Amino acid sequence: MSLRVLRMPDRMPDRHRVAVEIALQTRVLRTCPVHNQLFQDDQADPAGAFALAVELVRRETPYVEAFHKDSHALTDLLSETIAAAPECCPVCGGGERGT
Ligand SMILES: [Zn+2]
Repeated sequence: MSLRVLRMPDRMPDRHRVAVEIALQTRVLRTCPVHNQLFQDDQADPAGAFALAVELVRRETPYVEAFHKDSHALTDLLSETIAAAPECCPVCGGGERGT
């Protein structure tokens, strides 16, 4: 299982970055291609993101070592991260597929 390298906002704490990348990888979160702003994809199933998070911790993937094998810490942060994201790009309001 490999995670794509994504262009991310600078100076994001490592743990938060991991949560965001998992959400992006499972398409629960998307980024505006113009403004690089995170927003939720309402057609995605967050269960996929949580399943991936638990799987990465269970496999002791170095990528999630900041969570010290604590899958609950990761899923809690993932939940917060998804909930905190707007439903569309806060700059342009974009969020429809293909835009
Ligand atoms: Zn935008």
